[in-house]
Amino acid sequence: MSVLPIVMYGTPSLHETSVPVAEITDEIRRLAADMIETMYAAKGIGLAAPQIGRNIRLFVADADQVEIESRNPRVFINPEIVEESVEDEPYTEGCLSIPGVEGEVWRPSRVRVRAKDEHGNAFELEAEDLLARVIQHETDHLNGVLFIDRMEKSKRALLAGKLSALRRETEEALGAGAAQGKGGEGGSAD
Ligand SMILES: [Zn+2]
Repeated sequence: MSVLPIVMYGTPSLHETSVPVAEITDEIRRLAADMIETMYAAKGIGLAAPQIGRNIRLFVADADQVEIESRNPRVFINPEIVEESVEDEPYTEGCLSIPGVEGEVWRPSRVRVRAKDEHGNAFELEAEDLLARVIQHETDHLNGVLFIDRMEKSKRALLAGKLSALRRETEEALGAGAAQGKGGEGGSAD
């Protein structure tokens, strides 16, 4: 297993809709294992494939991660949120792809998700609290949506400076990163 580089805000893969995983192959299993290792290395509780530059519908999560002994990683392939609670609750979210930025987001407090695991087994899971939060945050990633897109406009406006600095940094790094024809994807503006 290996730790993969996490892409940062402004990278096109973070702003695009991902496609379903057609077949759960050894390559997909290896990717999921690497993503779990990457998530732990970054001290995250979830990581979606677009965050490592792959636009496929796969994420990993571990909301129990506190101590190594209590780790409980889960792989979600082609996840679908099939039910959500009427009650919303606020929580201050962050994202491994948007370092140094946090903000309050309201989301349903409970969800039911349907997905496949890395062995191709379908499962349904009813989640609440932090796990419900992570599942929604990561599912958003698969649709090119970031938590900052769900913040109140007035609160997000306070982050505009930080976000555009981060985007500029990312774009410079990508530009310096070789034969990547420019233009094209022109990411969504803030
Ligand atoms: Zn995120």
